[in-house]
Amino acid sequence: MHGLMMDSELLISTILRHADRNFGNQEIVSVTADNPLHRYTYQECFRRTRQLANALGKLGLMQGDRVATLAWNDYRHLEAYYAIGGSGYVCHTVNPRLFPEQVVFIINHAEDRWIFVDLLIVPLLEKIADQIPGVEGFVIMTDEKHMPETNLKNAVCYETLIGAESDAFDWPVFDERSASALCYTSGTTGDPKGVLYDHRSTILHAYAAVSPDVMNLSSIDCVLPVVPLFHVNAWGIPYAALMVGCKLVFPGPKMGDGETLYGLLEQENVSLALGVPTVWLALLQYADSAGKKLNKLQRTVIGGAAVPERMIRDFRDKHDVTVIQGWGMTEMSPLGTVSTPKFGMETLTPDEMIAVRAKAGRGIFGVEMRIVDDKGTEMPWDGVAYGSLQVRGPWICSDYFRLEGKSGSHTADGWFDTGDVAIIDEDGYMSITDRTKDVIKSGGEWISSIDIENTAMGHDAVAEAAVIGVAHPKWTERPLLIIIRAKGASLERDELLAWLEGKIAKWWIPDDVVFVDEIPHTATGKIKKIELRKQFADYELPS
Ligand code: ADP
Repeated sequence: MHGLMMDSELLISTILRHADRNFGNQEIVSVTADNPLHRYTYQECFRRTRQLANALGKLGLMQGDRVATLAWNDYRHLEAYYAIGGSGYVCHTVNPRLFPEQVVFIINHAEDRWIFVDLLIVPLLEKIADQIPGVEGFVIMTDEKHMPETNLKNAVCYETLIGAESDAFDWPVFDERSASALCYTSGTTGDPKGVLYDHRSTILHAYAAVSPDVMNLSSIDCVLPVVPLFHVNAWGIPYAALMVGCKLVFPGPKMGDGETLYGLLEQENVSLALGVPTVWLALLQYADSAGKKLNKLQRTVIGGAAVPERMIRDFRDKHDVTVIQGWGMTEMSPLGTVSTPKFGMETLTPDEMIAVRAKAGRGIFGVEMRIVDDKGTEMPWDGVAYGSLQVRGPWICSDYFRLEGKSGSHTADGWFDTGDVAIIDEDGYMSITDRTKDVIKSGGEWISSIDIENTAMGHDAVAEAAVIGVAHPKWTERPLLIIIRAKGASLERDELLAWLEGKIAKWWIPDDVVFVDEIPHTATGKIKKIELRKQFADYELPS
């Protein structure tokens, strides 16, 4: 027997309609290439979004067709998100920081028909335009005054395009399982793979994101996503924040600029900011060197890579800001776990609390987790056993776009293999020890490169640390520690190794330390271990 509840589709356009009604006067502030500080209201945003939807309707697109964006975080990008997805097309966010060959591969693989492009990214597209023949035209996200000379085919100015349209538009109603957005993983091995989100998964994920134990978002929050709109939908913020009516602040092309971020956080009264650890390093360094405190920020969600304990401490002790660590991935929309405390943890000492926040976190409702050994046997949640981390739930991909099961990413019983190795403790808090391919195998045992990196980052003279396995005749592999010294600091190998003693297991102490000026990062801010392993492939460890 079915229940007697209305059958209304969970569509992203419903967020927009709700936000328009209830939070019409709420503000959206953006830094853009053509305006250092643009400011308008939700109402104005949605009026323009409807104009854009009308313009898209005249391009001859069919439901499910892909329309790409190559753009930084700002209001026009947000409008494109909703106009494309809300109309029933698929908003394909492309990461402009990828190698041009990857951008070409992704656009062709997705068969994007039109591309919305930020003024600053036009030169990148001009260079590859002849390799993406399927694209019918380009919308340059600026006004007439800033419109560049360009040879991009059918280039139109965003403001001109929408200016000609009516602001009346009826959002179509269709099956909530229709695709809404597409995002490719960065493809550190092999070609990038497309993750295709749908309306239902997006809404369910947004409900989870706003809940108190996750981001605790409400209309009294002001949110600054430093995580890009092209990286897993900025962790769902465009949907979650609008669902509850938060003020939004977008940093545009200034995402890596500590001074601009600091200014926005203070002037706009930002209560929550989100980003990967590297962007917060830049902000904390700026605040330190300028002798400034973050006065307004209350909490920050950090994920995408393990958060060093030192960063959690610096935010708390210097700025009175709570760090909420999150773990997830493109394939998971991305939220999987969040390191918020549980009942009974009120009595923890400040140091014990830091240890909780340094874990990747506990599973949120909607994400089931398990860890399994090589044979697929489930391992206990005892804080000691580790295994491959597998997940399932309504916002986790069931396959990759146009790969039809060929990636081997899913188990026969319907779980997604994350490619991460993890430990889960008795309280359900999970810690990532490594990516499966980065694990260091020493004498038949595994060493966690992430744990060593995090511990090393606790040394005052260390700006960044990376650990890789290097071939060893007796132990198969041994850890090599790669360090960038903090500005002006002096630190030598033996001093650092001695300092690590007692902080990590004795047999985890790296066999050697090399000091470098730069550590390579992926387009999404993770340490590029593949590159490091290549660089140090012939490295001879001291005997
Ligand atoms: P990419 O496109 O680079 O794969 P993702 O954001 O999808 O970007 O990367 C997901 C991976 O990032 C996870 O599988 C995990 O290895 C790593 N990661 C994310 N959050 C954390 C975290 N809090 N701690 C450790 N690793 C993390």
